Amino acid sequence: MTDTLLTNGTIVTQDENRRIITDGAVAITGNRISDVGPADRLEADTSPARTLDIDGRVVIPGLINAHTHVSDILLRGAFTQDRGLYDWLFNVKQPALFEMGPEEHALAARLYCIEALRSGTTTFVENDTALDWTDLEPTRRKLDVYDEMGVRNVYGAGIRDLAPDEGFEQLFEDVTARDPDVPHPGPDALVVETDDALEDTVALIEEFHDPAGRQSVWPAPATLATTTADALRGAYRLAERYDVMTTTHVAEAKAEVRERGALSSIEYLRNIGCLGDRALLGHCVQTDARDVRLLARSGTAVVHNYRANMRLATGFAPVVSMLDKGVLTAIGTDNSILNDTVNPLSDAGGVATAHKGFHRDPGVVPAQRAFDMVTRDAATAIGRADTLGSIESGKQADIAVLDLDEPHLTPSPDPVHALVYGTRGSEVETVLCAGTVVMEDREITGIDGELPAVLAAATAAAEDLVGRANIA
Ligand SMILES: [Zn+2]
Repeated sequence: MTDTLLTNGTIVTQDENRRIITDGAVAITGNRISDVGPADRLEADTSPARTLDIDGRVVIPGLINAHTHVSDILLRGAFTQDRGLYDWLFNVKQPALFEMGPEEHALAARLYCIEALRSGTTTFVENDTALDWTDLEPTRRKLDVYDEMGVRNVYGAGIRDLAPDEGFEQLFEDVTARDPDVPHPGPDALVVETDDALEDTVALIEEFHDPAGRQSVWPAPATLATTTADALRGAYRLAERYDVMTTTHVAEAKAEVRERGALSSIEYLRNIGCLGDRALLGHCVQTDARDVRLLARSGTAVVHNYRANMRLATGFAPVVSMLDKGVLTAIGTDNSILNDTVNPLSDAGGVATAHKGFHRDPGVVPAQRAFDMVTRDAATAIGRADTLGSIESGKQADIAVLDLDEPHLTPSPDPVHALVYGTRGSEVETVLCAGTVVMEDREITGIDGELPAVLAAATAAAEDLVGRANIA
C-alpha cells in the first residue's frame, strides 16, 4: 500500500549513477521510499492514499547540513563585522549564549527549523558547544521543538573537560580586553569532569537517541584545546557502543596549527586513536598533505564549513586535495551568524565556485560533487549512507520539491547545475521528512501559520539578549 505518490516531476535521485528521471515519480510507504521510476509506471502500479502532482518540479533528496549551531541564530546580524574567530567567539558568541534561557533556546530552535526546512534541509548535525551540563532544560526544549517540527536532527552534546593552558588563557585575556564591558563567562566556563561528561552523555543518548526515528544524540568534544585525550577517547568508545559518531571542531584557526607541539591536530588525534569512521571533524582548515593522507587512510570524514571560514578569515581548507585523496567531505553552514544562512545549497554553490578561483582551475569541485557534499556524501559522512542521502527504494522518505520555473533559473537544461549555482533557497515548495509532509506550498505544518509571530518574537528576543549581554 502506497501512502503518498509524488508524480510528474524531475527526480534527481543522487543514486550511485546519479540518475535523473524526467516525468518521474516517487512512491512512499510509511517513512520509506517504496519505489522510484517513470510516472506512468508508478501511477499504474500503485493506488496511493494521497497523490501529489508536482507538475514538472524538481525532486531532490532532503539536504543534510553536517555541521551547524542552532541557538546562535538569535545573534544573526549582530557584531560579526570585521571580527576574527576568537574576537567573535569570546566577545560575542560566548557571552550571549551564556545569557540565554530555555525559552530563548526553544525560540531559536523554532526559527532555525523554519529556515532549514524552507531551504530543503531535512537533517542537520548540531554542535552544541555551549552546553551547560548543570542545566539540560535548554537541550530538552530544543529537542522537543525539533520533534514538533518533524525534522531529522543529530544533537552533538558538547563536552569540555580541559581548563585552558597558559597560552590559551593569555589569548582569552588579550581578546576580551577589547570589550571590557561584556560579561565574559571566562575561559574555563562550562568545563566539567571527564567522567561526569561521559556519564551525562550516556544518559542523554539513552533518553533521546532513537535509531529508528528522527532524533540522534552524539558525543561532541568541543575542540582539542578544551578537551582531554581521555574525553576524546571516551567519546569515540561511546560512539562505537551506541552506533553513533563523534564530532569535534579541529584545526580551524591558525592558533591551532601546532597547539600540540610538534604534532599537528590530525597527528594528535591519530596517536590517541580518535581518527576513523566514527569521527566527523569540523573545519580541518589548518591541515597539510600529510594530515590529508592520515584522514584518507583512516576513513575519517571532514565537514567543510566554507562560508564560516571565509567570514572569520581562517582560510581555505584543502578540500580539493581531500577530495583527490578520497577523504569523505561534507558541507556545513556552521554558525548561522557567520554565513548568514543555514541553507546548504547556497554554501554548495560557494564551495563549487571559490575553490576554482583559489586553485585557478575550473575543473575542481564540479557542481555534481558539491551537490553530493550536501546529499549522498553528507549521509555517508554522518554514518547514514544506508538510510539517507538519495532517492532510492528502501531509504527514508526525506525529500524536497523545488520549483525551478523562475526567471533566475531559466533556462536550466541541467538541474544539478541550476541547483548548485542558481538557486536562492526560495524555490523549495514542499518538504517531506520520514514520509511526513512537513512543508507544503512553503507553509510549515509544525507552526500552524504562526510564521509572522515567530519572526516577531525572535526579533524581540534577540534585541533583549544583545542588550543583556551588553554586546556593542
Ligand atoms: Zn562550528
